[in-house]
Amino acid sequence: MLSERVMDFESFEVMDILAKCEDMERRGEDVIHLEIGEPDFDTPKPIVDACLDALKDGKTHYTDSLGIYELREKLSEKYKREYGVDVSPNNIIITGGSSLGLFFAISSIIDRGDEVLIQNPSYPCYKNIIKFCGGIPVYCNFEEIENYISKRTKAVIVNSPSNPLGEVVSKEIFKEIYENVPYVISDEIYSGLVYEGKHVSAIELDENLEKTIIVNGFSKLYAMTGWRIGYVISNREIINAVLKLQQNLFIAPTTFAQYGALKVFDDNVKKARDYMIKEFDRRRRLVLKYIKSFGWRVNNPVAAYYFPDVGMDGREFSTKLLEEKKVATVPGIGFGSVGKNHIRISYANSYEKIKEGMERIKEFIEF
Ligand code: PLP
Repeated sequence: MLSERVMDFESFEVMDILAKCEDMERRGEDVIHLEIGEPDFDTPKPIVDACLDALKDGKTHYTDSLGIYELREKLSEKYKREYGVDVSPNNIIITGGSSLGLFFAISSIIDRGDEVLIQNPSYPCYKNIIKFCGGIPVYCNFEEIENYISKRTKAVIVNSPSNPLGEVVSKEIFKEIYENVPYVISDEIYSGLVYEGKHVSAIELDENLEKTIIVNGFSKLYAMTGWRIGYVISNREIINAVLKLQQNLFIAPTTFAQYGALKVFDDNVKKARDYMIKEFDRRRRLVLKYIKSFGWRVNNPVAAYYFPDVGMDGREFSTKLLEEKKVATVPGIGFGSVGKNHIRISYANSYEKIKEGMERIKEFIEF
């Protein structure tokens, strides 16, 4: 008999869709992947080389549970350089992707019955992790945050730039959030992938990290999804709580992957990164052109993903599109109730594949 906790836990639909597509591909079907937020680029070579060197040099043992000091030091320098803020390497813990960072952050502060505000729509794993930790996810609109506050409100998860909307939260909205909520978990995994305007980090509102837990990682910006390296930044009380979780559940992040990640700050990697950002922007504009020509409504996506209104049930649309045209997308409903008539299209695939996918969608809707 499975535990109630696990039985109540929902699967992450994007991964189910990916598995279904892989089954179809094994049967010889030509599927276009517009579902997964996984950059098609290879990880930049200096990162791969550094990881291989680490393996050859015997960097195959446990590290400090906080992660290697050098990587935390580089991250501390990044925050000084980009935001002018002093973050000690001891306020940073390296985690198995930002996913684990989110789990640690939520588990550290959420008690049974605590409410956690999340945006409608938002990344589906938030609500699942909150529930797993005994909390109650409350979908909200950040622009009217005060209407969603109750005695049980413990935290808000801000995801800027956001998945699925591709929007950024302004400093003014961030300020409102800070005034109303005890803790802010700021998932900044898409920071850096902004094509118009500017991303505001939570560190700009709370330099001393009194009520902030920043979750970030290398997956999206450096095409390192499979490396499983992320990090959490917060005050010492929270970092010590996260450290206990890490020690007991994972001991430490993967050693050679951390040595690879050290290289993301090198100049030759910056070039590769800037190329990827430019290419994502080119793809974004391509998808936007198609979406507008279909007459679908779409927000103004300045970062990360799209979330167009397909004018019918998004699940039905997405299922039929995959069956009939072999184009994988994600039904919007998993992101929150406002996603019901939407699908999410990811433009992490190549320009050519995206073009082929959008042409197939065109045929599908014109039929
Ligand atoms: N946060 C958001 C909003 C995401 O979209 C994702 C992945 O798609 C993650 C976190 C997890 O990323 P990772 O665990 O690879 O760092």
